[in-house]
Amino acid sequence: MHFSKLFLPTLKESPADAEVISHKLMVRAGMIRQVASGIYSILPLGLRVLRKVEQIIREEMNQIDGQEVFLPSIQPAELWIESKRWDFYGKELLRIKDRHNREFCYGPTHEEVITDIVRKEVKSYRQLPILLYQIQTKFRDEVRPRFGIMRGREFMMKDAYSFHADEEDTQYTYKKMAQAYTNIFKKCGLDFKQVQADSGTIGGNFSHEFAVLADSGEDDIGFCESCGYASNLELAESKPPAPPAPLATSEDIKEVETPGQKSVEAVASFLNIPTRQIVKTILFENENGLVAGLVRGDHEINLVKLKNLIGCEWLEPAEEKAISKHPELHCGYIGPIGIDLPVYADCEISTLQSFVTGANKPSTHFTGVQVERDLKIKKFSDIRTVKTNDPCPHCEDGRYQVKRGIEVGHIFILGTKYSSAMKAVYLDQEGKEKALIMGCYGIGVGRTAAAAIEQNHDDRGIIWPINLAPFKVVIIPVNYSNEDLKVVCDNIYDQLQKTGIETLLDNRSDRLGAKLKDADLIGIPLQIIVGAKNLSAGQVELKIRKTNESRLHPYPKFINDIPNVLKEL
Ligand code: ATP
Ligand code: MG
Repeated sequence: MHFSKLFLPTLKESPADAEVISHKLMVRAGMIRQVASGIYSILPLGLRVLRKVEQIIREEMNQIDGQEVFLPSIQPAELWIESKRWDFYGKELLRIKDRHNREFCYGPTHEEVITDIVRKEVKSYRQLPILLYQIQTKFRDEVRPRFGIMRGREFMMKDAYSFHADEEDTQYTYKKMAQAYTNIFKKCGLDFKQVQADSGTIGGNFSHEFAVLADSGEDDIGFCESCGYASNLELAESKPPAPPAPLATSEDIKEVETPGQKSVEAVASFLNIPTRQIVKTILFENENGLVAGLVRGDHEINLVKLKNLIGCEWLEPAEEKAISKHPELHCGYIGPIGIDLPVYADCEISTLQSFVTGANKPSTHFTGVQVERDLKIKKFSDIRTVKTNDPCPHCEDGRYQVKRGIEVGHIFILGTKYSSAMKAVYLDQEGKEKALIMGCYGIGVGRTAAAAIEQNHDDRGIIWPINLAPFKVVIIPVNYSNEDLKVVCDNIYDQLQKTGIETLLDNRSDRLGAKLKDADLIGIPLQIIVGAKNLSAGQVELKIRKTNESRLHPYPKFINDIPNVLKEL
């Protein structure tokens, strides 16, 4: 491609609303343009990169016998009513009506459509398993679209769905899919982790996210470098405490006045004790009313763990309104003793000897509280959020690190959630009707490209991992109107094109500085700079974008070495 023909509107300034580097650089490098909030046009350079991501995905999906389909983006409401998601999905689902006033939605995901296809066509276990995937546009009316195409409203996703006769086969495909995802993100040149994720009511180890480590990530990832355990922080397991030591104190429970001391920190400093000697009582609301969760004062309660422990439909921090219905509860002084609510406690609480809690009386706390004697706990479990340096539960000496991550992929065993709701069944070997077992597997195409920029950039611009680069090589003549330079550049260009190396030739009449700036900004891995002085000594300059390393090579011999140079990048 000749630069002069490329529709590449680069910008000096970043858009004012861009918070993260990938958004800034994608706009500046002329890859994307915003049309409306969370809705983007992908320009030629951007599309070249997205197509690379897609191609890598396709190869790996085909490798595990996935078959590509293309499903409609507009889906009839009936299917969503059948799966019971029409109401549940809420405002993220963009609902539309056709001219006959029939209801549709723009697909945020495709479980319903694919289940509908498979239930109509599959009758017998002999037709299973089936693995179908597509690469297609989704729409989700996100509350806060931001970060460019990393959290858009309209975005490209690879979504795959598998259908199985039994659990074992489902897990087999799940494992193959996890390996395929690992291959994909490796080929994309990303530093990522496969992390355990919340599988909600299904439980088990059947949901993993692939998270690219980057400060701009929206998820917290807890991981141990010693043993490799990694989990979304929502779920990261705490090391179980050592069994409680026999009680060393026979302290009585006492009421103490703590006027105005509502926070853990305030109470701790007022009573001159460490925060770990206080037990926090936090109230939550679910479909059955209020529940209380207990954690040590220096710990934080984990909503997802608590929700899974209770097994409720939903769980949220209790609002004032719900609390005010219980006159015995005084905010800041709430404690587990004498309240008529189910109380769930973090397992660390069971090892405490004597501690402080709210006394359910204004301006008052209890001291000398003991678990066995004073508390009525419905369940003890791991319900706190781990922190950096907490001991790893899966190895001897490992410690947690907590870092931000961008979720680029998600694999999930769905079980029979959709097949039961939508009556997608097959006949097993004994001729018995059974619900199909399903898995679903997503990758954000645009988000993956954006995540690659988050991890690979410098103050001059993008540094594309070689497999995602829109062009592998850019040829930059110091002066293309110089006939000698033109002949050489054209020759290098023709030869590289012939070898199948995607090459950009900067044939513009701009100053060298401007051309180098653009080449750096758009992140082409290898620059070939051709100037009259070097050429008169039979040489051209090769510059590696990533390291800024520059070396002279003999012309034209070097052309044969380019494939090897690229392999090293
Ligand atoms: P998130 O928690 O980030 O909203 P999700 O759990 O809703 O993600 P999935 O439904 O599992 O995401 O979708 C599969 C993949 O699609 C995600 O792993 C992500 O890469 C991508 N994706 C999801 N939402 C968006 C979005 N708004 N913009 C771009 N990509 C997205
Ligand atoms: Mg989402």
